[in-house]
Amino acid sequence: MSTQTANVTAHESMFEAVLARLDVAAKLMNMSDDVATILRSPIKQVKVSLPVMMDNGKIQVFEGYRVVHSTVLGPSKGGIRYAMDVNQDEVMALAAWMSFKCAVANLPYGGAKGGIKCDPRAMSVGELERLSRAYAMSMKDVFGVNKDIPAPDMGTSGREMAWILDEFNKVTGEDSPGVITGKPIVIGGSLGRDAATGRGVMVNTLAALKKMGLNPKEVTAAVQGFGNVGSHAARLLSEQGIKIVAIGDHTATFYNEKGIDVAAALDYAAKNGRVLKGFTGGTVIGSNDILTCKCDVLVPAALQNVISEEIAHNIQAKLIVEGANGPTMPEADAVLNDKKIIVVPDILANSGGVTVSYFEWVQNKAGYYWSENEVNTKHDEKMEIAFSSVWDNASNFKTSMRIAAYITALQKIEQGVQLKGNY
Ligand code: NAD
Repeated sequence: MSTQTANVTAHESMFEAVLARLDVAAKLMNMSDDVATILRSPIKQVKVSLPVMMDNGKIQVFEGYRVVHSTVLGPSKGGIRYAMDVNQDEVMALAAWMSFKCAVANLPYGGAKGGIKCDPRAMSVGELERLSRAYAMSMKDVFGVNKDIPAPDMGTSGREMAWILDEFNKVTGEDSPGVITGKPIVIGGSLGRDAATGRGVMVNTLAALKKMGLNPKEVTAAVQGFGNVGSHAARLLSEQGIKIVAIGDHTATFYNEKGIDVAAALDYAAKNGRVLKGFTGGTVIGSNDILTCKCDVLVPAALQNVISEEIAHNIQAKLIVEGANGPTMPEADAVLNDKKIIVVPDILANSGGVTVSYFEWVQNKAGYYWSENEVNTKHDEKMEIAFSSVWDNASNFKTSMRIAAYITALQKIEQGVQLKGNY
């Protein structure tokens, strides 16, 4: 792998960081400047103010966002995030990543993302329901089963999707389960969706280990984050014989060189407010130490921008599989490349979630539902194809897996733009 990396620094915006990596890929593949110009601006940006009655009887106004980056390859698709650091720039970056992710995974979608600036852990269930319904109401002209299809992301789950679906259907007078994915099974969700992003991380890890000539049964892994992505990734990797030596969430981080009992950790979190604090299956370590601990595979599956240039210098893993969106700062890319650490980038590594969201949408449209085995088999097949096309592009263009993933996506989007034409 060569060291072509994006020339951006940490203080620039997340969207600028996406564009910088896009520029590197566009130059390498000789993409048309016109297509690059189109992709530099999201096609729609909506910002709303959401007044919600809080449990203390006072109104609080929340900021809500939805950005549609591209619809070249189909209706836009992307999650909704509830977090305090949600802002326009972050949502723009995440929306662009969705355009590239859907293209890498060969899905007939463009990219979008939404978010509400809030602290879901500090809100009651009633407050969260009112906020989710207010958001759905405000997005009634943006969302649509053939237009823009949201899903869960950080801080949201099937519960929020159910409220948003119900409100959208009430407001529009439609009964359209496919307008949102990641729903609970009983109201049109897909079997396998909950674990899908973690499953994609597992399939990508196995594919990379195979290329590296490593036997999963002789490999150790550390997984940062124990929410939807991290907990399923840790479980599925351990089921493949990979020894999980470190896990952690926002409350605590643990290391155990003999291997953490992931089933026991899952059980502990399920009984203790979905957090790991108090778990006794490993030694407590600092939250950042999980990134640099002794392991073969590192799976950042929590936050963005956790792998800085400095941390990259200290990483011991040979392989990084990005479960989270944007965990690696652009300036860390060069360090990781120089250290010959293979990075399976977010737009490939965590595309299992949107892949099964696509299956959910297909099942909703057909009104016919598949078995979990069928979903998983189709998912694994799509992931393996996506991994191979990125791996081959990395080799053909002599570049990193990250830039190769952008190239894989841009090749399809460029073709789409040229076939559809412009004004
Ligand atoms: P989640 O809310 O279910 O879980 C987030 C986890 O991160 C929690 O365990 C939380 O405790 C942990 N965390 C938060 N702050 C932390 C810190 N400072 N140190 C260590 N851990 C910390 O979210 P999720 O759905 O698992 O999403 C995680 C990442 O994966 C996000 O970047 C998201 O965009 C990305 N992603 C999610 C999906 C999906 O299907 N859910 C799909 C693709 C990408």
